[in-house]
Amino acid sequence: MTRPKAQPKTCSRCRDRKYVYSAHEGKLRAEFCECFHCEECTGDGRIFRQNDQGIAFLSDCGSCANLGKRLHLLNDAGIPGKFSPSSFENYNPIGSQNKKALSRALDFVKDVKEVPKEPHRGLLFMGGPGQGKTHLVVSILKQLILEEGIDSKFVDFFHLLSDIRHGYSEDQSEKSLIEPYLKSRLLVIDELAKGRNNEWEQTILDQFISSRYNAADKMTLFTTNYTDQGTSPAVTGSRTAHFQKQSLQEKVGDRIFSRLTEMCDFIKMEGGDYRSETRPSRNSPRRKA
Ligand SMILES: [Zn+2]
Ligand SMILES: [Zn+2]
Repeated sequence: MTRPKAQPKTCSRCRDRKYVYSAHEGKLRAEFCECFHCEECTGDGRIFRQNDQGIAFLSDCGSCANLGKRLHLLNDAGIPGKFSPSSFENYNPIGSQNKKALSRALDFVKDVKEVPKEPHRGLLFMGGPGQGKTHLVVSILKQLILEEGIDSKFVDFFHLLSDIRHGYSEDQSEKSLIEPYLKSRLLVIDELAKGRNNEWEQTILDQFISSRYNAADKMTLFTTNYTDQGTSPAVTGSRTAHFQKQSLQEKVGDRIFSRLTEMCDFIKMEGGDYRSETRPSRNSPRRKA
């Protein structure tokens, strides 16, 4: 069977990645780009084959099923839609600390890709808002899902707590909401320690940390606005000042903090506000470079 020779072309929509991102109901959505037409299965992802006895059976398409499954994993990860465009390529670190943070994130991806089956120590990105902490963890997640097919989840802990509270009134069990996150091989806990941290919230957090801590093959990444010292000398802006009153240890308690130190490396991020420095504000005139 001869196939027509693929024409070299560049799709401006997906830049020949074959898939595109969008935001759907507040979550990242990835799908095949319209430029991609699978010649093997014509897009079904499944193909009829014959076994030795001549009996036809359906099996995955060798050309596109793998990518299709990974896009599916990405859509199931729960990444917020506003981070759909985030990648290592468009992370613009400000200051040496944030450059270091970028290189730690890249090293993490490299280490996991080298030995994907092995357990890897997690990372905890800490610092005031606007450093690009979530941008980095989302970039890690996307790359490991798309290139290694690693089952991953993203949880905004503050949102999850409100979902659980809401679930009680709908007779939805706490376990059914929490379990998908605990089971995933790679988990991002965003905004660790945000909230009042009352006894109930601590109990839920404790379930997360204990479960991840005890599962040797699982990897967990965190972001938090709190630092390990309680004050961050480089961050003096009024936006961040109130985040710095307590340390992470004071917020989460000694037991959880001690487990965090065993599970992951702490990476401090500080510098200018990543979001305002990389995007011109609507009111300010564009300066010439
Ligand atoms: Zn395309
Ligand atoms: Zn196909």
